[in-house]
Amino acid sequence: MSRDRRRVYHPPHAGLPDAGLLVRRPRAVVVGGGIAGLTAATALAERGVAVELYERHGHLGGRVGGWTETLPDGTSVGMSRGFHAFFRQYYNLRALLRRTDPGLDRLTGVPDYPLVDAEGRTDTFRALPRTPPWNALAFAVRSPTFTPRDLLALNARAALPLMDVRVPATYERLDHLTAEEFLTRLRFPAAARHLAFEVFSRSFFAPPDRLSAAELAVMFHLYFLGSAEGLLFDVPNVPFAELWTPLGERLAALGARVRPAAPVEAVVPSEDGFRVEVAGESVRADAVVLALDPPGLRRLVAASPGLGTPEWRRRVAALATAPPFLVRRLWLDRPVAAHRPAFLATGGLAPLDNVSVLERYDREAAAWARSTGGSVVELHAYAVFAPRAPVSDGLLARLHEVYPETAEAVAVGEFSEWHEDCPLFAPGTFHRRPAVAGPLPGLVLAGDGVRIDLPVALMERAATTGWHAANLLLSDWGLAGHPLTTVPLRGRFSPPFLRSTRTVPDRSR
Ligand SMILES: Cc1cc2nc3c(=O)[nH]c(=O)nc-3n(C[C@H](O)[C@H](O)[C@H](O)COP(=O)(O)OP(=O)(O)OC[C@H]3O[C@@H](n4cnc5c(N)ncnc54)[C@H](O)[C@@H]3O)c2cc1C
Repeated sequence: MSRDRRRVYHPPHAGLPDAGLLVRRPRAVVVGGGIAGLTAATALAERGVAVELYERHGHLGGRVGGWTETLPDGTSVGMSRGFHAFFRQYYNLRALLRRTDPGLDRLTGVPDYPLVDAEGRTDTFRALPRTPPWNALAFAVRSPTFTPRDLLALNARAALPLMDVRVPATYERLDHLTAEEFLTRLRFPAAARHLAFEVFSRSFFAPPDRLSAAELAVMFHLYFLGSAEGLLFDVPNVPFAELWTPLGERLAALGARVRPAAPVEAVVPSEDGFRVEVAGESVRADAVVLALDPPGLRRLVAASPGLGTPEWRRRVAALATAPPFLVRRLWLDRPVAAHRPAFLATGGLAPLDNVSVLERYDREAAAWARSTGGSVVELHAYAVFAPRAPVSDGLLARLHEVYPETAEAVAVGEFSEWHEDCPLFAPGTFHRRPAVAGPLPGLVLAGDGVRIDLPVALMERAATTGWHAANLLLSDWGLAGHPLTTVPLRGRFSPPFLRSTRTVPDRSR
């Protein structure tokens, strides 16, 4: 449940409730079945637009998608790219999930989220006050790595941009700096850097010397300084496929055509809209939503030479991808110690970034652990530059170090996922990033790498751009839009005379 009374409600634009009332029902193709594409397709289909959604892979959900694998003993298990934190301030993602899960029963709260560094110091977010600045002060009082003295020693002038985060103004102020340079200016204590880097920077799959300081500041605002929802989060208690399959079924029930395993090959502008080349067909559309991961978007635009202006095509081609990451999931023949948390983030223990114990929250893993006496453990390594095999071995060695009881365990099954398809928010790139509105009428973009001038990130940026992309099309057709909700549009401690008049308090719930 949302607790931040200062969250901001962005009312929908007015319009007709259903495309059936128009002279002709518009046809939209959504390319990509991740969060952004599912959101845009849902928003359009709910207004009666004829939607076709094409997804390259055989399952929906994109980077948060789930599929089935078989363990050597024949047991069928859900697999995914692993642990995802569904924060309480992900209002627009939650609005999507509520379409098929009104009580959000498929999500479970994680009671704590400890962070351990190489010296064994542990920070924790358990029972922190939710409201800034009390959350930051209480954290500093309790933290072994970020002390009240460190708080007082911060360069207050350099820290000001953190108190007054606004999009895009924060990018104008800070996008030229790396996250690392910014924290140095701040006099952020060395011991606490792992907090800033591991929780925020590396969660963006970027090493701190390649992440924009503006992106880091927006993250601080979204997760900590600007929101009173707290830093604790929910995780799915079902295999990930069970989040998205019902949304695909609901789309079909609304009349949409959902086509997994159907990669779009090209999008061609035509006199009557667009031709979308897919699976040997040429599908006509009045509008196209490109809801792709960065490499997918680059490839599709390169394969569609007549699409967009030269400047827009250059911007798409310049979209950077973060370095590769590895997710390694192990089905162990014995349990981890009973006190191990659902999720542990690590700092300074390369290549390990975090460890999750799936039976703590995932019902399928819990059933497997109960019936076998084993444990399902997942290890993540982000921003990997080293050769793959040693990194994979290194993950296991670190697991044995942080959870010594696993040293003798035998993996009765395991799967590894190496990928390189997350956006990289490098310094100086914000103004070149393609925005939701495309370069020609009827063409819009959505996804976590797409620019939107709201304080959102990751899954929430994917969902927010998805709603917004659909709203732009609905508005062109005279159809009613969908509301958005965000954390406050600027820092909670910014001078009142500077506050934006666009801010409308959320009275929706
Ligand atoms: C290991 C890992 C952990 C993460 N943890 C978190 C977390 O804790 N919290 C958080 O908020 N975020 C997290 N993220 C980020 C999150 O997964 C993404 O922000 C989000 O899923 C992006 O959604 P999207 O719809 O923008 O893109 P995607 O999910 O990438 O969707 C794009 C879709 O387009 C499809 N596609 C590509 N080309 C074509 C084509 N030619 N035709 C048709 N379809 C095509 C792709 O197959 C894909 O399904 C994590 C990501 C990873 C990988």
